[in-house]
Parts: sequence; structure tokens; C-alpha cells
Amino acid sequence: MDTIVADYVEIPWQRAVISVDQFTKPDITEIFSSADRLSVSRTTPLGGKTIANLFYEPSTRTSSSFHAAMTKLGGNVIPINEVKYSSVSKGETLEDTIRTLECYTDGIVLRHYDDDATERAVSVSSVPIINAGNGAGEHPTQALLDLYTIQREQGQIDGLTVTLMGDLKYGRTVHSLTKLLRQFDVRLQFVAPDELRLPRTYLQEGDTEHSNLRTAIAHTNILYVTRVQKERLPGAIDIDCDYAVTSEHMERARDDMALLHPLPRVGEIPSYLDSDPRSAYFRQMKYGMYVRMALLVAMLGGA
Ligand code: ASP
Repeated sequence: MDTIVADYVEIPWQRAVISVDQFTKPDITEIFSSADRLSVSRTTPLGGKTIANLFYEPSTRTSSSFHAAMTKLGGNVIPINEVKYSSVSKGETLEDTIRTLECYTDGIVLRHYDDDATERAVSVSSVPIINAGNGAGEHPTQALLDLYTIQREQGQIDGLTVTLMGDLKYGRTVHSLTKLLRQFDVRLQFVAPDELRLPRTYLQEGDTEHSNLRTAIAHTNILYVTRVQKERLPGAIDIDCDYAVTSEHMERARDDMALLHPLPRVGEIPSYLDSDPRSAYFRQMKYGMYVRMALLVAMLGGA
């Protein structure tokens, strides 16, 4: 595999979360311990601090979980979830918007459609930046919460078989999670239609690729499903596939498998599976808030 090494690996994640490449195994252990503690604590270490939620793309979970996390920690949020009502619609550059928000805040959570947006923001900002999704690139805080969910659901990460299914080409959560999982002793299986296979750069020896879930599900401990990223497809690709999880798949699956999805789902997991105890995607959202609390405390210098 080509190693993906970039300058941002040198930047401490406490200063800017750009990619999962910045996190070592001890960092991950520490963040997860902090998330465990914060999930049961009522302290407000970020009293007097403010973040901006700056979202150039739609978001429900990421923006509201950062908002909830900051509020629970005693801090405040400037929510800019619809940039068309800000000066962005007058043509303001990302750099100028960041320079503006750094005057009023202690940190900026940024989601943007360009892959290089986080690095551009970091290059002009004096306050910490958190990448909340940069185009088809990465979604590092989602990957951390996905990994935390795996740990909480299975009690361990090492030794597991993780199967990732759906749009593996454009799905940024898949890219970040795949890289993060490389730090552990896991077996990875990838299920996707030909047009949406995982970019070769993320593959490693020992991985297996499948064109349908039937052949991959039996030994799976974690099934991670994603939607097709329609907004990122170049033109109208006609994807001839059926990548929904069915009750037949669940019958073949292990009793202790956990089914994850970063959401939103648009048909990949039918709602009749919500009551299956293995469906962990709603618990995953709650774990996400704790992980984001842990990141905010570490980055904004809470006591
Ligand atoms: N919410 C995730 C993201 O922002 C997954 C998705 O949109 O499919 O990448």
C-alpha cells in the first residue's frame, strides 16, 4: 500500500484535528477513557469557552452532537449551519470567514465540500480547527466515535473482523475508519459495487473484497454500512446494485455482531431491523457525543 503521509501529521491533534493519521494508539486510549468518564460526569470544564459550528454541507448528527457536547461541558456555540445566510453567500472566502470566527471563539468545527478546506482553515487560524468532514476526504471525529462504538459494543477491537459495505469510494467515514483500524489487529472485508470500490491506496495485504454481503457476513463481528454519496458522484452513474441489509443477512450473521452506520441511511438498513439488538447505530450516535466531549476538553484546555 502507498503510505499516505502528509505535513499535517506533524500538527498535534490538540491544535487541529485534520486526519486520523494524527492519532496514536495511546492518544486513542486516552480519548476513550476521557469519553467513558465524561459519559457519567456532570462537570462543566468549558464554562466561558465558545466554539463555532461552521457547516458548508448539510449535517444533523455531527453539528448537533458537537453543539450538545459543548453545551454539556458548560460552553457556548455559534451555529452557522446554513452558510447561505452568512457572508459566504456574498462571496466571502473560507479564509476570511475563519479569520472572523477566530475573533469570537476558542475553536471552530468545520465541514466543507472541498478536500483541502481543513488545511486551508488551519493555515490561517489561531484557534483549534476540527475537521467535521472535508469532501470525500476524511471525517476523523466520526471514525473515532465509530471505533469507540466498536470498543463499547464488543469490549475489544483486536481480533475482530470488520466488514465495510456501501460507497467505499466517496464515503469519507470509510476512509478515516479504515486508516484508524490499521492500528489494531483486525481483519477487514470490503463489500461494494465495482464503481464504488475502496480506493487502492487504502487497501492492504490480507484484506478481502466482495461484491455482495452474503459471502462476507458469516464471520463478521462489525458490519459498517454506508449510503451512496450521490452528491459526490461525477454525473449520473447508474449503480446496478442492491446493498441493503436484509433479515436473511441477519439470520446468517453472528448473534453478537454489531451493525453500525454513520447515518443518514437511505434504504441500506430497513427500519424493521431497528429492534434487532445487534443494530447499534442509535447507540453509536450517543457514543459520538461523548467522544466529541473528550476531544473538546482536550483541545480547548478544560480543567
Ligand atoms: N454523515 C456522514 C458524513 O457526513 C455520512 C454520510 O453523509 O453518508 O460523511
